Amino acid sequence: MTAVRSIPQSNPGAGFFEHRAALEQAATSALASGWYILGKQVSAFESEFASYIGAQQAVGVANGTDAVELCLRGCEVRPGDIVFTVSHTAVATVAAVERAGAVPVLVDIDSATYTLDPARLEDAVQSCRKRGQRLAAVVVVHLYGQAADMDAITAIADRHGLTVIEDCAQAHGAMWRGRRVGSFGAASAFSFYPTKNLGAFGDGGAVCTNDDAIGRRVRSVREYGWQERYISSIAGMNSRLDELHAAMLRVRLPYLDYDNGRRRDIAARYTAAISTGSVVPPQTRHGCTHVFHQYVVRSQRRDALREFLQTRGVGTGIHYPVPIHKQLAYEGRIATAGDLPETERAAREIASLPMFPQLTPADVDQVCDALKAWEAAGA
Ligand SMILES: *Cc1c(COP(=O)(O)O)cnc(C)c1O
Repeated sequence: MTAVRSIPQSNPGAGFFEHRAALEQAATSALASGWYILGKQVSAFESEFASYIGAQQAVGVANGTDAVELCLRGCEVRPGDIVFTVSHTAVATVAAVERAGAVPVLVDIDSATYTLDPARLEDAVQSCRKRGQRLAAVVVVHLYGQAADMDAITAIADRHGLTVIEDCAQAHGAMWRGRRVGSFGAASAFSFYPTKNLGAFGDGGAVCTNDDAIGRRVRSVREYGWQERYISSIAGMNSRLDELHAAMLRVRLPYLDYDNGRRRDIAARYTAAISTGSVVPPQTRHGCTHVFHQYVVRSQRRDALREFLQTRGVGTGIHYPVPIHKQLAYEGRIATAGDLPETERAAREIASLPMFPQLTPADVDQVCDALKAWEAAGA
């Protein structure tokens, strides 16, 4: 018997080797320019990325967590304001809300798509209202590469005067009714962490907005609150995208749609291999173009499934194993909108299969064969 090939769940290095010559050239010319912070590369990337998303402007920042914080500060969410978001997300989303001084209230998700459940958001808004709390915003997370239900969420936000902020860290290029996410909210946050759909080779992020005043505030806060060099008009921070990373991102951006297409093709092949009810494939909401940052299945025998796949060389992950309201840093301290049963069930049942654009047809076959073997074993 030949040794089983190991297929990692993600592989950011593969994205480097695919475009090695162009990336090395871009990096070398950024290094040789002698200008490393907020120069031509960042400006050019900001305008190229804004036009790709369909937003009026993009602001390059240091990472996705800062991007969420800067969205909130750019929208003038104030200390103590209530900000609704989900517990089933990267810790970064909630960490950023607290960094902005706001008070997160975590709402349950919809069981089919793992994104914010609009009905539960409405309940949460009503009960915070009754308590007389100051409600400011909702941070919508487009999880795993698909848009949350923006029609319903926007309607609720409009009715109650909430600012909509999008966390697009997993959804570069995803669409809702033919428009890219990141162009709906007052401001939106992107991460260029290496494994994201558009990844740098280090940390990076961006804020997109169609509002001049928000864009101006974000630009100021990302650089010490400067209104001009050395003169701060508001309290700021340091959160800048590097020239080096911007130069590399400019090489990768033109391939984003192609890469997302490859992710969708891989997803379609996985879904076709899953035939019976014991493993539930991801569902795409009507009106969404999914970009499969992750391909997430659910199973009541999740741990056994992962072990079985591992023996066949198939790496898996869990995004995320512990809901935020159950984590040591937050449990008992952070508010939830009632119980979050779907969030807790997802954490027990989900597994992410290998997903990155450079998976080969043979890799995908191996994953599909392993899934079929699991079902044939009567699991
Ligand atoms: C990755 C991620 C972030 C944080 O991005 P960083 O660049 O790692 O700070 C925020 N929200 C979500 C949903 C993410 O997946």
